[in-house]
This record gives sequence, structure tokens and C-alpha cells, in this order.
Amino acid sequence: MKRMFNRSTIAKFCAASLLISGTLASCTQAVPPQATETAQPSPAANTEKKLRVVATFLPVYLFTKAVAGDVAQVEILIKPGTEVHEYQSTPADVKALSETDVVVKNGLGMEEFLDNTIKSAQNSKLKVIDASKGITPIGETSQVVKTGKESGDAHSHSDGNPHVWLDPVLAKQQVETIRDGLIAADPENKVKYEANAAAYLQQLTALNTEFEQALNPFQDRTFITFHDAFPYLAKRYDLKQVAVVEIPEDQLSPTDVKETIDAVKQFQAKALFSEPGVDNKLLNSLSNDLKVTLRPLDSLEAGETDPQHYLTAMRSNLQTLKAAFK
Ligand SMILES: [Zn+2]
Repeated sequence: MKRMFNRSTIAKFCAASLLISGTLASCTQAVPPQATETAQPSPAANTEKKLRVVATFLPVYLFTKAVAGDVAQVEILIKPGTEVHEYQSTPADVKALSETDVVVKNGLGMEEFLDNTIKSAQNSKLKVIDASKGITPIGETSQVVKTGKESGDAHSHSDGNPHVWLDPVLAKQQVETIRDGLIAADPENKVKYEANAAAYLQQLTALNTEFEQALNPFQDRTFITFHDAFPYLAKRYDLKQVAVVEIPEDQLSPTDVKETIDAVKQFQAKALFSEPGVDNKLLNSLSNDLKVTLRPLDSLEAGETDPQHYLTAMRSNLQTLKAAFK
């Protein structure tokens, strides 16, 4: 069976960074100081009758919070900075789901832990909103190059690539699905959810227009990435991902390094994208060797918990894309 998407890529990426740099900084830097504050309950007076909502991880949390505003109490299950793809749920997660009214997930196989966590929570009233409902998933769009020793644990899943939130147009669809789900769970506040969603959707529409206009002039839009997070973004704006290069998980021998450099060399890409906050010696030497600047493109799996962060981070991604394709 064709391998659709390797979910362990980013985990490997972080593990590799850790081994190479000898510090945790590369995988922890992206955690904002306010990341832990969002789970704090609002003052009791306001929460008595509020709909309780748990969103699984950052992008769906941002969209849910944008729609909910102050009407519902929204918490995030996987705190920004915690690896999402390989996430294992905790007893605290089971408790959170046993005490909530609604859980919002990205879907498309992103939250593999969730079904069992929901079962364990034994909450018969729990409603699940699948934010990717109705979105046609994309499978593998380019060659996946594995370098270094095979880890053997790369597994496939038939749900396709889950990173739909990185396309502003599909993000709008996710916001609409979340809006409809919240209205179904809490019809009394329909008007407020609709107004909040409409305001956010307008911002996403403007963002899409900015992307279209800003990327239009560039001829060569080829790129290589180390995390297969951007196929929906690429498809939307006619960018061409030529390869996903998986960084070795194990300790790197000089041969592994050379192999990785050779693998990237064979693809003549205009741009090389890594993740923000990553300081990886292998990637830096790659970039020096190929004379291509390594730039951080944000997958938004970590970051600030204000709904406006999606727009800020995506605009920053747009600046990165413009600089890379110039
Ligand atoms: Zn990812």
C-alpha cells in the first residue's frame, strides 16, 4: 500500500535536532510563555452555564476560540510545544473529556489518540466536531527521501495528510464547520457564534487575497521541506514541493550527513524550509553546501494561543515565501 503520510517525521526531526545540537532548545523554543494560561478556567461567575469545549491542538483551538469568543469556555488539550503527531494521551486528558460538552478535532488522522481517550472518558453526552469534515484529503504529493538509517517505524495511514489548516481557504471551511457544530451544541447562542465566525472568516478571506496577490509574480516556486506540512498551502497557491526529506532519527554518522546533503542536492529547489526555532547543524551545513537559504516556515503546530496568531503567523509565512522565491 502506498504510504500516504509519515506522521513521525516531525518527531524524528526534533529527535535529530536534539542529537545534533545536544540541546533541547530546538524543540522547546517555540513554546510561548502564555501557552499554559489558556487552560485556566474563567472566573466562576461567568462559566456556570457556558458551553464547555475542548480543542485538541493549536490550529483548531485558535479557530474554535475565534468562533466561541466569550460565549463558550474553550480549552486546549495538547499544549503548544508538545509534539502533536506522536501524542499519547494522559489521565488528565481523559478527565478533561469526561467533563466537557464538546471536543473539536482537526481530523484526517491527526489525533490518533483521540478515539481511545473518548472511550475512556465515558462521557455519553460528549459531542465531537470534526473540523475537516467534507474536506478531500491530499496524499503524498512528492517524493519522500529518507536519509540515514531506516528507523522502521514509519507507518502509513489512509486518511491522507492532515495539515489542511495551512491553506487559508480550507481554514475557512474548518471555521464554518466548527461554527455549525457549536451552534448545534448550544443553539441559544447561535447569533453570537455566527457574528464571531463572520468576523474571523472575513479576515481569512483577506489573508487568502494577500497570498494570491503576493505570490503571483514569482516564476520558480519549488521548495524542499523537512516536515510534510504544506501540501494544501502549495496546492492553493501553485507552489511546487519537490521533496520531503526525512532527517535521520539516530545518531548521525558523517555518511548520514553526506547522504542527506546528496539527497537534497539532486532536487534543484529554489527554497529550503525548516521549522521556526530550529537550529540544526545538519540543516545549516546543507544550506551552506547548496547555497540556498534555509528559512523557517511555520506549521502552526506550536505558537501563541490568541486567535489572531493564525493570521500573524500566516502573514509571516507569506513574507518567508516571498523572500524564498524572489
Ligand atoms: Zn505536522
